Amino acid sequence: MNNTVLATKWRPKSFSDLVGQEPIVKALANSLDNNRIHHSYLLTGTRGVGKTTLARILAKCLNCETKGVSSDPCSECISCESIDQGQFVDLYEIDAASRTKVEDTRELLENVQYMPTQGRFKVYLIDEVHMLSTHSFNALLKTLEEPPSHVKFILATTDYQKIPSTILSRCLHFGLNRISVKTISDQLTKILLDENVTFEKEAIENISRLADGSMRDALSLAEQSISHGDNKITYENICKILCLTPADNINKLCEMIIQEDIKSLMIFIDKIYYESADFKYLLEEIISILHQTAIYKVTNLIKDSVYEKSILAFSEKLNEENIQTLYQICTSSLKDLEYAPDYKSGFEMTIIRMILFSPFQFNSKKMQEKFSKDESQEKKNKVDSKKKIEPVEEKEKKYIGSQTSEDIGSKWETIVSRLEIDSITKNLAKNIMFNNNQGSNYHFLINEDLKNVATEKSIAKLQEALSNFLGKEIFIKLNLSENNLNTINKTQEANYNDKIKLAEKEIDNDAFVKAIKDKFEAKSIDNSIKINEKSKGD
Ligand SMILES: [Zn+2]
Repeated sequence: MNNTVLATKWRPKSFSDLVGQEPIVKALANSLDNNRIHHSYLLTGTRGVGKTTLARILAKCLNCETKGVSSDPCSECISCESIDQGQFVDLYEIDAASRTKVEDTRELLENVQYMPTQGRFKVYLIDEVHMLSTHSFNALLKTLEEPPSHVKFILATTDYQKIPSTILSRCLHFGLNRISVKTISDQLTKILLDENVTFEKEAIENISRLADGSMRDALSLAEQSISHGDNKITYENICKILCLTPADNINKLCEMIIQEDIKSLMIFIDKIYYESADFKYLLEEIISILHQTAIYKVTNLIKDSVYEKSILAFSEKLNEENIQTLYQICTSSLKDLEYAPDYKSGFEMTIIRMILFSPFQFNSKKMQEKFSKDESQEKKNKVDSKKKIEPVEEKEKKYIGSQTSEDIGSKWETIVSRLEIDSITKNLAKNIMFNNNQGSNYHFLINEDLKNVATEKSIAKLQEALSNFLGKEIFIKLNLSENNLNTINKTQEANYNDKIKLAEKEIDNDAFVKAIKDKFEAKSIDNSIKINEKSKGD
């Protein structure tokens, strides 16, 4: 299956395709079918919920040649087709973020008076409309007050609070819902079955959860996994792509927490650190396990979960109150992670806190001893580490912040490791390469075959994190490249493959292996060697 097909092929083309937004779709469809058409619509909602998609469908509803104005455009006439292909001359898609000045808005509105060339209505889709300047809003307001009858406005924004009330009062407002994990997972399952792609249920669960309410992100992740894994999506593959620690390891971690085995825990954390573990994700998973344990304690119900083993073990050992305490420790530590010198040490502190400061039922005597012995030391360490390390981090941040553009290219890997971003955004960062910057526009390159990794949402998140990091607002501009770019992901994969080759060579040269081969005329199987992941990514 073609790598770039899924997201484009399954982009909703009609209201009935649009999942997770049923109430809005119903209201819109009713008003269209009863010919109560408003002249301006405002669509609000977080990134990736489908505002632009909904706007394009609405443009089709208004301009379909076969069916007239209706909620069910034919998708076959010239107007419908050209809207789907993004070539409809009367649909003006404007990104307000890049055209904030009043001159831009005036220029745009000058053409409003002319009749549509191709369709029934001229449709102006203004995305991220909250970015317009006050003057631009005023210019727009004049048109919104008395728009020509052949013009429709669709305004879209992620930040509803920033729209002036004068504009709000002239628009029909629709708030799009965040798409639920279940809706995403159901839709993804449906699509994959239709595409004859084999998948593991746990993998789909993980993708749906990490997509953070965006169907598009979920599809792009699924595609990437398919191209990595011979037309199938496995849990292992998803973990690999996003550098997530697999459930087995998280269950092991929980087991050691329950056994209060701090020493093994620290060794284990070191080990997964070299597998580029995402410690924020790990902590979130532990929180989710504790949450499910709390539910299990009260209801005796357990959802089909990869963490069933840990949930049962926690619930056997802890009472309701203990679970609440641990949950509290973890959630407050999650906030503290941002203040820790790095995620790893923040995570280690959390684990120590969980074991030393939570009254487990068993070993309570041992616990008491530990508590009184270690408390003063722990507190001291905590104070010391904050005192010592925070200024260093500040310094380093500033240091990188004042880097020239060449340095950003050469230090990209370090910068990415320090950005506060989720796994999906990190995946994007690891697949792009810095090219140059012109003022606040930072140009990056991405390989043609990976372009779907760059969703609107992940780009926006990366842009935000990079702006915070550099201490100034920057804009990410992505260009496609046909060259085989030397991205972080490529380098890490190449390192890994080199190590495999080395290991194969070592094994082939091993005297014992040689002896066996000679004696039994044996051959080693190609690609049968796997490296303990420790070597990947360091
Ligand atoms: Zn049509």
